[in-house]
Amino acid sequence: MKGRTPSAAEYLDMLRSLQSSDVLERQLLRRSVMALSEGRDSCDGCHRTPLLGERIHHYEGGRKLCELCRGERREQPVGSRVVHGGEHGTTVRITDQRPERRRRRAA
Ligand SMILES: [Zn+2]
Repeated sequence: MKGRTPSAAEYLDMLRSLQSSDVLERQLLRRSVMALSEGRDSCDGCHRTPLLGERIHHYEGGRKLCELCRGERREQPVGSRVVHGGEHGTTVRITDQRPERRRRRAA
């Protein structure tokens, strides 16, 4: 195509390929966003994703409410837990497990 002007049919083909790659790009983005949100907790009251460190409360029937929506309900939750980030549980904390005597000598 170098050195000459593309024909109308070639322009149309180029345009179609750009549009199909745009559609594919959008589908991949949508799929990855949906995959990310599947494992995430969300409040059944306000549909908000609770912030890291915020408490989410579990009620009978599997309903979950954030701290803000819990205040509007009188029923007591069956459980609650702190929301952690995606890296929670995958990090390793290194602790000194040597006997006390060897630890003092090294310090
Ligand atoms: Zn809420």
